[in-house]
Amino acid sequence: MSLQHESAAQARRPVDAEPDASVRRGIRVLGTVQGVGFRPYVHHLAQTLGLAGWVRNDGEGVFIEAEGDPTRVARLIHELPHRAPRLARVESIAVSELVPLGAAGFVIDRSVTSAPATAVPADAAICESCLHELFDPAYRRYLYPFINCVHCGPRFTLTLALPYDRDRTTMAGFALCPLCRREYEDPESRRFHAEPNACPVCGPRVWLVDRRGVPVQTQDPILHVWRLLEQGRIVAIRGLGGFHLACDARNVEAVAHLRRRKQRDEKPFAVMVLNLASARHWAQIGPQQALLLESTARPVVLAAMRPAAAELGAVAPGLDHLGLMLPYTPLHFLLFHAALGAPVGTAWLHGECAIALVMTSANPNGEPLVRDNDEALRRLDEIADALLLHDRPIAVRCDDSVVRAADAGARAPGSPQAAADAAQPVFVRRARGYAPAPIRLGRSGPAVLALGGHYKNTICATRGADAFVSQHLGDTDNAPTRRLVGEAIAHWQAILGVRASAIACDLHPDYASSTLAARVAAESGVPLVTVQHHHAHIAAVLAEHQIEEAVLGVALDGTGLGSDGTLWGGELLHVDGAHSRRISHLRPLRLPGGERAAREPWRMGAAALHLLGRSEQIALRYAAVPAAHLLAQALELDLHCPTTSSTGRWFDAAAGLLGTTLFSSYEGQAAMRLEALAHQHGTGYEAQGLYAIDPQGRLDLLAVLASLLEEPDAARGAARFHGELVAGLDAWIGHHAGSSGLDAVALGGGCFLNAIVLRELTRRLAARGLRVFAPRQVPANDGGLSLGQAWVAQRLLQDAGGQAGGAPADNGRS
Ligand SMILES: [Zn+2]
Ligand SMILES: [Zn+2]
Repeated sequence: MSLQHESAAQARRPVDAEPDASVRRGIRVLGTVQGVGFRPYVHHLAQTLGLAGWVRNDGEGVFIEAEGDPTRVARLIHELPHRAPRLARVESIAVSELVPLGAAGFVIDRSVTSAPATAVPADAAICESCLHELFDPAYRRYLYPFINCVHCGPRFTLTLALPYDRDRTTMAGFALCPLCRREYEDPESRRFHAEPNACPVCGPRVWLVDRRGVPVQTQDPILHVWRLLEQGRIVAIRGLGGFHLACDARNVEAVAHLRRRKQRDEKPFAVMVLNLASARHWAQIGPQQALLLESTARPVVLAAMRPAAAELGAVAPGLDHLGLMLPYTPLHFLLFHAALGAPVGTAWLHGECAIALVMTSANPNGEPLVRDNDEALRRLDEIADALLLHDRPIAVRCDDSVVRAADAGARAPGSPQAAADAAQPVFVRRARGYAPAPIRLGRSGPAVLALGGHYKNTICATRGADAFVSQHLGDTDNAPTRRLVGEAIAHWQAILGVRASAIACDLHPDYASSTLAARVAAESGVPLVTVQHHHAHIAAVLAEHQIEEAVLGVALDGTGLGSDGTLWGGELLHVDGAHSRRISHLRPLRLPGGERAAREPWRMGAAALHLLGRSEQIALRYAAVPAAHLLAQALELDLHCPTTSSTGRWFDAAAGLLGTTLFSSYEGQAAMRLEALAHQHGTGYEAQGLYAIDPQGRLDLLAVLASLLEEPDAARGAARFHGELVAGLDAWIGHHAGSSGLDAVALGGGCFLNAIVLRELTRRLAARGLRVFAPRQVPANDGGLSLGQAWVAQRLLQDAGGQAGGAPADNGRS
């Protein structure tokens, strides 16, 4: 150590510090700390505290060496997580003692390691600072649709590979202009290493074309879009993770038109409004909904409709909840700005605004989201009247996430997670704003890749103690989505830098994801692990809650293949890590016509009538359905009528008997309609004990269905079905819990998206003294399967000491 350095270091020390009291600490920071402005933040904090040393990114996260006065070094460490940048997520800080070097000054060390970086941040809504600049006429990015900074903007959707830097994003093709480069290289700038940094001189741009791809001559493409929307037209708008189809939600004709063109008969559309004040006009927005709506993830938030929602077109036919979201890109804000006549300043951002826009994913025929400009012209020319395009390539398709606020009643009172839970959403669809944030597992395990289910597919890869669940990919019953899953596997491996030592998939051999998994496993010479569908649903809950003990698994679902070769979906399982055993199930119903029965609830109504010995009523009751009498015969002769213990089909049977939904135009529609009707009727239904536990210990709801036959009030019928179902489930679980010796219950499966079932069953089970765990970080439906599969595969590999075939006990296919 030279004298010169020594004196320089002393010169930097505050006068009140003892010169020889200096300490030097190595500080390891883990979490989402790269690409979020963490190094400049540390740099600024260290300089403010008068510390010396450096900060750098490396293969694990961020490493800091800080030297100076001990209390000031301690303060740096203390403050690191508390004042971290908006998009940073500090998971751990480890401190080591180093020998002081007498160093001076604090620098950002640019040395880059070749190891993969930690994690790609999720996309984030535009920040307040950028929003102010966007509407500042004096600023060089005034009204520029791609303004962003280190605290906001796209991340995941433009990342091609790691480490996360501009060359490995889709911004690589845009050379920074001198002004942008200066910001990009200046640690004092909010755009220091903001990889998507751009301006009107050097960055992406937007333009408008008609449905044939001919550019529309206009000075202001965004204002032009608004004019079209105002006239009732449909415009495709390219966004962060793909295209939206937009129309004026208040224009009944325009919404109906969009439904017809999109052939999306009744599936709900998301609605974008300017701000909270505007959202409150259409729906009931409590503190939790407000937090979610304004969060950086900016998901679609389901909220109970207010009477004003009746003025909207058919955005959510038959339902009582509205999917609302707030603008999240500069472009969205520019659209509202144009619609409001270009107000000056930013005060207008907070005032109530009557504009409501349908912003629904452009995914015709249930195929993947439209991503590229030429693809949009090919796939949307029949739907959109005009297309607002841009030239910032999208690396990965990513839909809007759909969430609900957690129901306070759905948390066991006094549970340790209760308070922390309040701000966390319940996922219906997990995608933009959340993916690819990892889910922390209880312990580290071998790297595995799980390919999920057939519908609402996601994939999941594990790395150490982290599970990375992909964004929602879609239903793999179409070839484009199957290709998308293949692309997602490659992308996931590129950004995670892991090689799986096993591939996991569903037990069902005919799922496209299972076929793909078998191929991937064979090609890479690693074992294939098949996991029973409902075991995976429960395992997903165990994974996110880091539960190691055996639990009672309550899987209420559509259908999944059981280990006995029949279709399951109303299951009580004994789940102990990689092992699962069926304890009991709902009384099975027939599925007249097989899979078709899942899309046609009237068929389940007919199956119930048959079971009640009233087959003669089938043709009468469903006189409007041409095939009704044939179905009655098929039931009599037991032709093509497999059975299932699925809870979803019991909902369908109730809907079929009440006549509320005879044909579903999307999965879960009948149950969602029943839930809306039950809300309408009001809570407080007292179960009359119409359910029964049969001699085999199964839950039987047939008498509940019988009571619906002559029920003239559909809302009362729906409330009764919910009330008896929940009371029956509680009694049934209680019946088996005692003999199982287990006191922890995990709830999984798509039926837990039903808020009444989740809330009321949780409350009752907790009252029995059971500890209840429900899906929070991934959806309860098949979107969460990949996490559960990965968790089971990890445990299986660990149990077998690295040697795995099919899962043991009930799980193995071979
Ligand atoms: Zn920003
Ligand atoms: Zn520039």
